[in-house]
Amino acid sequence: MAFSEELKKYDWQQTTDAILSKTIADVDRALRKQRLTDDDFMALVSPAAAARLEEMAALSRMYTRQRFGNTIAMYIPMYITNSCTNSCVYCGFNRHNHFDRVVLTPSQIEEECKAIRSMAPFENLLLVTGENPKVAGTDYLEEALRTCRPYFNNLTIEVMPLKTEDYKRLTLSGLNGVVCFQETYNRAKYKTYHPAGMKSNFEWRLDGFDRMGQAGLHKIGMGVLIGLEDWRTDVTMMARHLSYLRRTYWRTRFSVNFPRMRPAAGGFQPNIVMTDRELAQLTFAFRIFDHDVDLSFSTRERPDFRDNMLSLGATSMSAGSKTDPGGYRVYPQSLEQFAVSDSRTPAEVAEAIRARGYEPVWKDWDKIFD
Ligand code: SF4
Repeated sequence: MAFSEELKKYDWQQTTDAILSKTIADVDRALRKQRLTDDDFMALVSPAAAARLEEMAALSRMYTRQRFGNTIAMYIPMYITNSCTNSCVYCGFNRHNHFDRVVLTPSQIEEECKAIRSMAPFENLLLVTGENPKVAGTDYLEEALRTCRPYFNNLTIEVMPLKTEDYKRLTLSGLNGVVCFQETYNRAKYKTYHPAGMKSNFEWRLDGFDRMGQAGLHKIGMGVLIGLEDWRTDVTMMARHLSYLRRTYWRTRFSVNFPRMRPAAGGFQPNIVMTDRELAQLTFAFRIFDHDVDLSFSTRERPDFRDNMLSLGATSMSAGSKTDPGGYRVYPQSLEQFAVSDSRTPAEVAEAIRARGYEPVWKDWDKIFD
């Protein structure tokens, strides 16, 4: 069975109603538990839990320190193509947006590797592509991974969902982890945002996480895009998905990410705006629900917010990010996927981490483990 089958057990509206019906007594009960059910998670993301934000922050901080110590793992994304056959309505790389598409060659990818390494001692690289199987399929990804391998110890990709055998094949070229955003778990509304192309297939994307697990990937990253549907319901579905994946692929590590929509070419306006307090509540809720999950904050978020979260639940952060292919050296002016909010250099981010008594960790994996 794959998760798309399990998801059918959960009705979107009933889940929303259940979350909104939670009381402060439900929240307090959840906060007293060591192991939370998805019902407890719903209490922690409910409006009622806003009155317990300080207690949640203290618990989140405690669990994070117990499990991860005073460390923040550093990573950097490298966009290698913005070519895409999908038409996600919220994305600047949408195939209907007319601009010069870039597909980096292996030698250009190598130039980008050198540019990143000259900027900071990153060892965790996230390779990102649009979704175009013809120009950025498995062969292209394999070559990109082989090109990056000498420069970084830990390679993760954020690309179109692949077949199990393709994930397995890429692990032989150094692939360590995969990040994929389901964007929303609202099956009925999914096509509104993803009307055409491969990404319009809700089940193929959702069950991609099972294929990653079956391929034996070391780490799987997941997330929903905040700004599409009711965030409380979406993250509850994601918490259920995470629990399912943990039960089924217990050797794999997991990370979650809650990207809030940023301005992008095309001008799509978010349906939902999540406040900083709500994002903090969600972060604490996830940490209390799952003590071991890696909580990642990208440069989509503002410097002050990221600095505050690094001692309250965050465990990994990007820095110095460019969201355009070739943005570090080869094509500094190409179209970015979205505008970043934290434009500090990696050294400045590392300094801010140290100033809070935490240690930026550039290397937490060695090729020898692969
Ligand atoms: S979100 Fe990804 S798949 Fe959708 S248009 Fe943008 S790059 Fe393509």
